[in-house]
Amino acid sequence: MANAVYIHIPFCMNRCFYCDFHTYVTREPQVVWNYLQALEKEIGKHSAGEIHTIYVGGGTPTFLDVKQMDYLLSIIEKAFPKRGKELEFTMEANPGTIDQEKLRLMKQGGVNRLSYGVQSFHDGLLKKIGRNHSRNQSYLAIEEARKAGIENISIDLMFGLPDQTMEMLEESLREAFQLKIPHLSVYSLKVEENTVFSKWERKGTLSLPDEDTEFMMFKQIIARAEEEGFHWYEISNFARNGYESKHNQVYWENREYYGFGAGAHGYLDGVRYANIGSTMKYIKEMKDKNSAIEQSQRVSIMEQMEEFMMLGLRMLRGVSPREFHERYGKELKDTFGSPIDEFVTKGLLEWKDESLRLTRNGVFLGNNVFAGFLSD
Ligand code: SF4
Repeated sequence: MANAVYIHIPFCMNRCFYCDFHTYVTREPQVVWNYLQALEKEIGKHSAGEIHTIYVGGGTPTFLDVKQMDYLLSIIEKAFPKRGKELEFTMEANPGTIDQEKLRLMKQGGVNRLSYGVQSFHDGLLKKIGRNHSRNQSYLAIEEARKAGIENISIDLMFGLPDQTMEMLEESLREAFQLKIPHLSVYSLKVEENTVFSKWERKGTLSLPDEDTEFMMFKQIIARAEEEGFHWYEISNFARNGYESKHNQVYWENREYYGFGAGAHGYLDGVRYANIGSTMKYIKEMKDKNSAIEQSQRVSIMEQMEEFMMLGLRMLRGVSPREFHERYGKELKDTFGSPIDEFVTKGLLEWKDESLRLTRNGVFLGNNVFAGFLSD
């Protein structure tokens, strides 16, 4: 039985210029209430055992007002009363939609980890990417979280942003480390279809750092984070010891989890499923059919083993042949001997502490390595 839960809250104040997630921009409170009722119905259908991690993502979960937040937390409390002693309960938050009352409520409802979408501490850059918060609001949001008793704080930073220089990145890193947050996630900008940025790119008005600069930015992030005592534990994630995201490790270790809400994915009893992405359709399907699953697929053993490699190698500690054998009853070298030999010879994978892991060079070519573990 899965012991990890993902819940999607799709609402946002506005759409950031790079975003292609399942989001819904509204000023209409009734839509939010309808969504929460649909979510309650979906969550209520499952009987779960002891839960170890809960992750509320979005969208912007802190878009909910205090009453809506209270309702969401009560749904979660009712559906998952059995919680492991070390429960990690994360909520994504936008520094522009947080206040002391909401934070206290979240803390009371069991939230003990916040993931703030800070993206940059440079106001000009924040405007350029369509974020609706400022550097000062990020500072305030972190301070307020600590006042409310939530110390386990992660921030997201982005690099490769329009007109972003190495100095701007360095400045954001310096501010992040000064704030003494225990966890950092970093993402490079990808221009996705149907975003404001894709329109600007077509018009030729989007000025992005070139590939070499982006590569140097990533290297700079790694160097600075390690200098500050952070442990680089997954391609995009750094933590002080003991602050690694437990929930995300469920995904990287290819373990099962519940997924609820519009566009949410789940993995239960060997079946991966995805809910309908549109918020309004999700509400309607839950009302009419009591289910919003759009697709589901049983994952074959071969696919499970491939996923184990592709996801597991994202973690810098790599994958363990012993665990592979325990889970699938096969030897790692017998199953994936040829890609392993190829990438070890190329210096992209290495054996260390009885695990197979990406080398430093391998991390930068991770996608090529992962693709090598997929059958044709
Ligand atoms: S806040 Fe997050 S989910 Fe919402 S539009 Fe911006 S990037 Fe997308």
